[in-house]
Amino acid sequence: MGAMIDSHTHLTDAAFAEDRDAVMERAWSAGVSQIAIVGQDLAENQAVLAAASRHSALLPFLGLHPDRFADRAPMIEEAEQAAILAMIRQRGAEITGIGEVGLDYWVCRDEQRRQRQREAFKALVRLACELNLPLNVHSRSAGRHTLDLLLEQGARRVLMHAFDGKASHALRGAEAGYVFSVPPSIVRSQQKRKLVRALPMEALALETDSPVLGPQAGVRNEPANLTICAGAIAEIKGVAEPVVRQMAAENSRRAFGLSG
Ligand SMILES: [Zn+2]
Repeated sequence: MGAMIDSHTHLTDAAFAEDRDAVMERAWSAGVSQIAIVGQDLAENQAVLAAASRHSALLPFLGLHPDRFADRAPMIEEAEQAAILAMIRQRGAEITGIGEVGLDYWVCRDEQRRQRQREAFKALVRLACELNLPLNVHSRSAGRHTLDLLLEQGARRVLMHAFDGKASHALRGAEAGYVFSVPPSIVRSQQKRKLVRALPMEALALETDSPVLGPQAGVRNEPANLTICAGAIAEIKGVAEPVVRQMAAENSRRAFGLSG
């Protein structure tokens, strides 16, 4: 069966500190050929670059996670935010794209913090447009707002990861060519099944979001579980699994600007 691309993971997470190489081996054995790794802050972005320099099958994304503006945590310093933008600019030629970035209104309810979150996201989207880099985007309880901002800014190559919004909003993104990646948690999510039913095959990709969003809540997820996403999409769409794998990989390559 065709090689799969895991379009969104946190492989540099401490959850993989003990056995990262074994986790990657299991992914290759399961038919995964490339794994996108996203960064959430300055320190993690450095880890992403280091990991990608050791393994050519890892696709590095540098970002600033919207959780860094969460109500219950110290908000990210302006200096760190500026350093992340500078780092992306400086390493732009070496990276696959910008992520994890986006909006999360679930962890961020305070209007002032939401404002800071939106401004940071907008700056990152503008940088992506300027450097012609794709975006690997998070949205939680903010699907419509996230898509509005992306469309307003004219973002062209976008992967929406684990989209939790309405299918009708997702369709607007799909019309603009955005790709929606589906995690293994689809086996326990009516919302994800609905999304897959509504979107055309051309707008679907595979992701695990390892170490979270696995088939079982609370159990560590890993890229080898990408087979679960492909199987679920095949079943819902009534399309053979090898075709799902191939189309999803093509969609990720198109979104990420990778040659086939
Ligand atoms: Zn993520």
